[in-house]
Amino acid sequence: MSQPDAPIPDRYEPADAEKRWYPLWEERGYFRGDPAAGGKTFSVVIPPPNVTAALHWGHALNNTLQDVLVRMKRMDGFNTLWLPGTDHASIAVHVILDRQLAAEGKTRQDIGREEFLERAWRWKEETGGTIIRQLKRLGASCDWSRERFTMDSGLSRAVREAFVRLWEEGLIYRDDYIVNWCPRCQTVLSDLEVEREERDAEFVYIKYGPLTLGTVRPETKLGDTGLAVHPKDRRYAQYVGKTLEVPSVDGTVSVRVVADEAVDPKFGTGVIKVTPGHDPVDFEIGKRHGLPIRTVIGFDGRMTAAAGRYAGLDRFECRKRIVEDLKALGLIERIEPYRHTVGVCYRCKTVVEPLVSKQWWVRTKPLAGPGIKVVREGRIKIVPRNWTKTYYYWMENIRPWCISRQLWWGHRIPAWYCDRCEAVHVSRTDLATCPSCGGPVRQDPDVLDTWFSSGLWPFSTLGWPDATPELRAYYPTSVLVTGFDILFFWVARMVMLGIHFMRAVPFHDVYIHALVRDAEGQKMSKSKGNVADPLEVMEKYGTDAFRFTLVALAGLGRDIRISDERIEGYRNFANKLWNAARLVLSNLDGYDASKARKLEPALADRWIQSRLAATIGAVRTALRRYRFNDGASAVYRFVWHEYCDWYLEIAKLSLYRAAEPAERLQTQRTLAETLEATLRLLHPFMPFITEEIWQRLPHKGESIMVAPYPKAGRKQHDPTAEREMSAVMDVVTAVRNIRGEMRIGPGTTLTVTLRPARGTEALFAATAPLIDTLARVRLRIDPRASRPRASALAVVAGSEVYVELAGVVDFAAERARLQKEITRVTESVEFLKAKLARPEFVERAPAQIVERERERLAAEEARLAKLTASLGWVDDR
Ligand SMILES: [Zn+2]
Ligand SMILES: [Zn+2]
Repeated sequence: MSQPDAPIPDRYEPADAEKRWYPLWEERGYFRGDPAAGGKTFSVVIPPPNVTAALHWGHALNNTLQDVLVRMKRMDGFNTLWLPGTDHASIAVHVILDRQLAAEGKTRQDIGREEFLERAWRWKEETGGTIIRQLKRLGASCDWSRERFTMDSGLSRAVREAFVRLWEEGLIYRDDYIVNWCPRCQTVLSDLEVEREERDAEFVYIKYGPLTLGTVRPETKLGDTGLAVHPKDRRYAQYVGKTLEVPSVDGTVSVRVVADEAVDPKFGTGVIKVTPGHDPVDFEIGKRHGLPIRTVIGFDGRMTAAAGRYAGLDRFECRKRIVEDLKALGLIERIEPYRHTVGVCYRCKTVVEPLVSKQWWVRTKPLAGPGIKVVREGRIKIVPRNWTKTYYYWMENIRPWCISRQLWWGHRIPAWYCDRCEAVHVSRTDLATCPSCGGPVRQDPDVLDTWFSSGLWPFSTLGWPDATPELRAYYPTSVLVTGFDILFFWVARMVMLGIHFMRAVPFHDVYIHALVRDAEGQKMSKSKGNVADPLEVMEKYGTDAFRFTLVALAGLGRDIRISDERIEGYRNFANKLWNAARLVLSNLDGYDASKARKLEPALADRWIQSRLAATIGAVRTALRRYRFNDGASAVYRFVWHEYCDWYLEIAKLSLYRAAEPAERLQTQRTLAETLEATLRLLHPFMPFITEEIWQRLPHKGESIMVAPYPKAGRKQHDPTAEREMSAVMDVVTAVRNIRGEMRIGPGTTLTVTLRPARGTEALFAATAPLIDTLARVRLRIDPRASRPRASALAVVAGSEVYVELAGVVDFAAERARLQKEITRVTESVEFLKAKLARPEFVERAPAQIVERERERLAAEEARLAKLTASLGWVDDR
């Protein structure tokens, strides 16, 4: 037990507490996972933020939720590991370095690969990883001694091992394929990296000899090697299999007509041109029918030499020119405006060009099967459930995964080409010469898709491919907490690769959280200007209030709307807690826990203990089900509306009116013990203020971080105490309401008669002194009482409460006030009724407006009923 001697300050200073506790926790090794420690484990790998990242709201939410779970499990005695790290983020780093180089008037090609990589590493060491410091500021209890980086030596080794094994197993291959190419970023994009955008275009009907067909990309006409129709389309059956010689912009071209199921006979004229070099569907049709590939657009987005006199033109410029030329030749039948979706680069929004090139691929079908099975069998649980469907859909329709990227920063593909014997060697170690012929070799210049290394994250970070104690202790991890935007980019790939390499799922649960939006429901984005810097918010309101806001709003699957008022509200909650602690701490003089333990608790003590037990149960259930907001609101309600609003008020009576020493001791005990347990319950949500207060209270252990998470035993539930206290509180509340209605000052002591419901006489007799003080009344209990004249009436669970008004209310003035008020509210009720009776309002106004007016009417009617009752009381003399 330890208690700082300094008195508790009047105000809570978040910055001060945060600065003090975090380094202490870290220094004492509380964040460390120890695989040798044994016991039940709880492990989490962080979704690695980009090494280029600065903390945004998404990170803040994602990491706060993880920290809540990890802190709770750690306190609950689990052998806990939360493993942090960052991702090398190929494209993002390229963007930064390209900008730096541009400022020097250079390109990356000018300085070459080696110097570029040197610069990238230097940038990473000097500037990268800002986010790690920011996560510490958030209170994240990660095991920083195990921080990883996707390009550190261990993880690079894991990446190479994974690549080589998949190659040896025939799951990685190299093939000509039509890929999504960004001419601006100069790299291939995976299907997931292509965004769809609506654009206006022209649908051009071109004459092809005897046939006419429509296209939005006339420039690709130069790459046509066929025409396709549906096999059942009678209109064109006579042409199928024939090669047509048709006049075109560059003389005559020959195109073969094929029949293919992929053609929609109802779209356009039912004929499509086949351009295998520039369209994914055409590429497949071409493959099925053996059509040649003619590439007329290059990797730079300009027409190639194969485009004849259009060579060198930008692809969109060429489109205009070719339409003009076709028009001049009379080869255009008509042009219609057309709105359609085009694929654009998710990073730079340039229209993606489908191009054929040699790329590295992962055969995903054989990996997806087991990935579907583990979710179907419940070995991985996705929360909320509705994401499961999306997951199945994507996994069942999975396509080969293109893993090569034409970039330098990343894991270079471990494949070497021999110029002499043309062999391709994939190798665990770097090759200098060809193992087949001894000739010179060159390594593939491309790097792997960033998601390839992050797909190994749950086991590569624990030491794979070695069989480490960490892997044995902490794999599979317990839960992955992530946003839905990377469910496929990342989560699905970890599932596939985890099962493949580890023969076990990478995590048992996947919790998918909401997106953070502003108060108006807009996604937080820099371009909308609605982004407050999370660090400034933490500075202003305190990290605990910031965290609590995120957790309290993290409803399952919904958007999270952030507003200043919300955060302010939770700062007030922190202050409320602080003030409660001050009250408790200033009243612990002479407190002796061992003596207090022998005493019989009073009703209020039993009640607050029972409520605490119920709250503990609610918070535990909520966290088990990932209903973070339910957990937060349960503890909030308990602290504010039960402990502070009621128990502290009751406690003051026994402390200040200094009844017997035993009673005082009992109260001290309940005050201190309830607060101490509440702090432990709240610690995962608000780590700093809870430690700051806990250290000043009587406690066991050196930090709240490693104190046990509260458990609720069945015997702490006390339904009798809860029922009895509710009856008392209801009577007090009823009197307070009457006091408010009748505008009687809080200082006036009221005369109240209570006619108890059957079976409650003894309870009210025993608690009368309590009611007297809480409600400021002189209470008389009389089972045979009838309502005195000029008294206000409340009925509480069958008991009648009569509050005498004579002498405390100026009847004439009150009657006048009530009558005036009744007139006003009656008018309002009539107005609303008339409004809601008008069909043109009810039918035409938006549903939520009508609903709001209905609610207003109900409230006004209730108010009218109360006023009428009050008028009855003052009239009744
Ligand atoms: Zn791009
Ligand atoms: Zn060779």
